[in-house]
Amino acid sequence: MAELIKPKRKLKIILGDLRHTVGGKSIVIMPVGIGYIASYARAQLGAENLDFNLFVEPDAMIEEIKRTNPDIVAVSNYCWNAELSGLILKIAKETNPNIICIAGGPDFPLKDERRQKYLQDRSQMDFYAYQEGEMSFANLVGKIMEGGDLADLKREPHEGMASIDPLTGELVAGQPYPRMKNLDNIPSPYLSGLMEKWFDGHYAPSLETARGCPFTCTFCEAAASWYTPVSYFSSSRMEQELGFIAERMAQYPNVLLAIHDSNFGMYKRDEELAQILRALQDKYEWPNAFEVTTGKGNYDRILDIMAVLKNKMTMSTSVQSLNPDTLKIIERRNPPPDKLASIVAEIKRRGISTVSEIILPLPLETKESFFAGFRTLLNAKIDQILPFTTMLFKGTDIASNESRQKYAMESKFRLLPRQFGEYSGHKCFEIEEVCIATNTMSFEEYLECRGFSLIATILSNDQFDVIPRHLNELGIDIYDFNIYVWDLVRSGETKISDLYLDYLKETREELWDSSQALIEYYTNEDNYRKLLFGETGDNKLRKYRTKAFLEQSEAMTELAYTAIRQMLGEKTDQEIINSLSAAEKWVIATRHIGNNINNASHDEISTELYLPYDVSAWYNATTNTSLLTTYSKSVHYKIYSNKKHIMQMMEDGKRLFGNNISFTVGKLLINFSVKSFWCKTELATEGC
Ligand code: SF4
Repeated sequence: MAELIKPKRKLKIILGDLRHTVGGKSIVIMPVGIGYIASYARAQLGAENLDFNLFVEPDAMIEEIKRTNPDIVAVSNYCWNAELSGLILKIAKETNPNIICIAGGPDFPLKDERRQKYLQDRSQMDFYAYQEGEMSFANLVGKIMEGGDLADLKREPHEGMASIDPLTGELVAGQPYPRMKNLDNIPSPYLSGLMEKWFDGHYAPSLETARGCPFTCTFCEAAASWYTPVSYFSSSRMEQELGFIAERMAQYPNVLLAIHDSNFGMYKRDEELAQILRALQDKYEWPNAFEVTTGKGNYDRILDIMAVLKNKMTMSTSVQSLNPDTLKIIERRNPPPDKLASIVAEIKRRGISTVSEIILPLPLETKESFFAGFRTLLNAKIDQILPFTTMLFKGTDIASNESRQKYAMESKFRLLPRQFGEYSGHKCFEIEEVCIATNTMSFEEYLECRGFSLIATILSNDQFDVIPRHLNELGIDIYDFNIYVWDLVRSGETKISDLYLDYLKETREELWDSSQALIEYYTNEDNYRKLLFGETGDNKLRKYRTKAFLEQSEAMTELAYTAIRQMLGEKTDQEIINSLSAAEKWVIATRHIGNNINNASHDEISTELYLPYDVSAWYNATTNTSLLTTYSKSVHYKIYSNKKHIMQMMEDGKRLFGNNISFTVGKLLINFSVKSFWCKTELATEGC
């Protein structure tokens, strides 16, 4: 029997940009994407004709679908929520088969035959809006408003939409819409009140200032040719929108602003936006942190913009690989090593940490080239080097059959960190396909690279920022030091060795031959409980790095100093050994972040520390050219924790990420330095 759409009337539409909440909130960004969709549709079709309700929480959205029986349910599909989105549409169809279900977003194949299979496998999706969603969604909703038969609508091609013809089972794909040139055609969802319910301190405001990316990195969905031209929101629109947001966010100074541009800071126009943001910082003392991907070019402009923003924004120094052959294949351009080093030096001069991401294993990368790249990054003095396993996103060149065959890319499936849940009795898991070996890097070599990366990631964090200072003074190469510590850990003789082995074991065990095998395993109640209690299913690098800081900070510090002493050898000057020992004691006393967090709600912590060197003065000397040994004098320190600040950080963190301390601290450390959890040092008396 034909499914009938009622004649023209006010349509009730429920939109979802869904996040799993069972394992603790992971994505805490306001859902501006669906805000733009609703805002544009209202502008085109009349706000009086459309009744929108926007959701991020799956249970609340399901309840609303069941309670109100809407005309349309639409969801955005990203790699972190595509299964959840599909489940919600399924529940909508079970509630009422006449609800029209629409999905949109980047998690959709590029080629027609794959699109057909994708939609055939998901019969609950009546339509898929591909490429920019605003125009295709509004166009389709306009047709639905006119009334008609759903089956007929699915047989007809609509611009920017794909569907399956119910009679033939074939793909029906409309022509793509031309790119929107002036983004101001999308009215602000903030100014129109669509985002109001998320201004409660639990969510970070987010927006685009520009859309498009001129680069063509083959591992990235944004490299598609249709996305190449860059379009902008005007500066006056941004000023209005950001002013509105900042006024509301002034009461949540620790909540960041997310800018979704692919290359923020790279364009001349971004200088104007920086001035607008700076005026807001001066007036509202917000934003104080940014989640932003900065441009892959015009680095000096980005540095200038950072300065305007009080250096609260940092620059992405991600390189993905430093192997020239690999870079050619993935069509990635990095700054030359000397430019990278000078950028990093400038960022550090301003007291900001630098982070660089690398992807492993990429085509033509070998174990040797990976380690050589790591050496370059360590020598460039990048603070945090974060290795990611190569993800094979739908619709990217690197995931194409040609690329898989050419480079013998071996893939496995794993759960996206903490992206799972149970909704209306259905367990749901987000799964990613990752590459774990190629014809130039075996799986065992991949594991070795990951193992080294864990140790280097821990050591390159601010938590151990004194170590490079020692290495520099003592003439020890930082890469050699990292390898030395790694070898000690791998020997199995250190206190950290168990943590390292657990990490490798989990890295092996998180991989499955198929999505189905993973789903079957975790659907079992006992295994599902392991996910619920955080025993497994988290981002391994983040989990073990945080574990090292929270549970093993003393052992890790001792290990680092042991490595330095052993590398120096027996002939070293006793004065150097004594000064290193003083520094080690000071680091242990001030940076035990596990203790500081656990005791933050108790009475004031204050300990006394007597040292023969003024390590704190040495560490704090901003233009430090003097060796630690020249700070020889007896000092008496009072070490106390900044309880109020730590409690505020943890309160904000728990509100955003839940009560699991390890997970919350791990997430906080993405945007805030570990220094926030350290003790302060006060000179009690100068020594005798
Ligand atoms: S990785 Fe960044 S620069 Fe490269 S295509 Fe994607 S968004 Fe553009």
